[in-house]
Amino acid sequence: MAIENKVIVITGASSGIGEATAKTLAKNGAKVVLGARRESRLQAIVDDIKADGGQATYRVTDVTKPDDLKDLVALAQSEFGGLDVIFNNAGIMPSSPISALHTDEWNAMIDINIKGVLNGVAAVMPIFTAQKHGQIVTTSSVAGIKSFAGAGVYGATKFAVRNLMEVIRMESAQEGTNIRTATLYPAAINTELLHTITDESTKKGMDAFYQQVGISPQAVANVVNFAIDQPEDVNVNEFTIYPTKQA
Ligand code: NDP
Repeated sequence: MAIENKVIVITGASSGIGEATAKTLAKNGAKVVLGARRESRLQAIVDDIKADGGQATYRVTDVTKPDDLKDLVALAQSEFGGLDVIFNNAGIMPSSPISALHTDEWNAMIDINIKGVLNGVAAVMPIFTAQKHGQIVTTSSVAGIKSFAGAGVYGATKFAVRNLMEVIRMESAQEGTNIRTATLYPAAINTELLHTITDESTKKGMDAFYQQVGISPQAVANVVNFAIDQPEDVNVNEFTIYPTKQA
């Protein structure tokens, strides 16, 4: 498989989609480098992967800090001798109606969901450009392709990264640097993401909805695996992932 021996950096790897993806890619022979803020969770996941015969390492990483992303990428190079893919997956979703004016949460979403992705892009771009090879996979959301009442700022951050990934793909094709991008638009996936909602009425509605339709993060991990496993001259660039029960 094309995925075998690829060195893959994953942000937001301490739970949910990032954790499921790290384990799936490692099982298929990739060398995975995990980043997030909760060290005990990262350590436990790396231990699980190694116990399963896989190759993995981690570094405590806050994606809002550009130097943390540079250090995570440097770890991939020193530990595994290169870098093939970054999976920009870290994100939060403290959704609320705009009229509630949770401006601190707006700023946190912009810092993590947009600037966090940009920090990942900035950390890998010099490496991918020089080696004329690399792939940037990013978790947007269905809220990044259509609007949902109650998710104005979250959706804005996810629309932003959609544009960013498509422009990187186009510019790379023009510049001949062979950088591929893949953007994921998951719908309701059962993870810890809803824990980041503080607005009581939003949380109540979302909890009930996810209990009704939500699916396992393994669904997204399988799609990431598929995107990375394509031949070098194939860029599969956009994926929506819906629970079958979600309208
Ligand atoms: P989780 O809450 O389980 O995972 C979020 C991850 O992001 C955690 O590993 C968390 O780790 C990490 N993270 C948050 N803030 C930071 C930060 N500042 N620096 C580094 N890591 C950070 O939820 P999901 O797995 O669902 O979320 C993954 C992505 O999927 C997000 O971008 C989310 O927006 C997106 N998504 C999720 C959907 C869903 O229904 N679950 C639907 C559509 C998109 P830690 O706290 O340890 O730092």
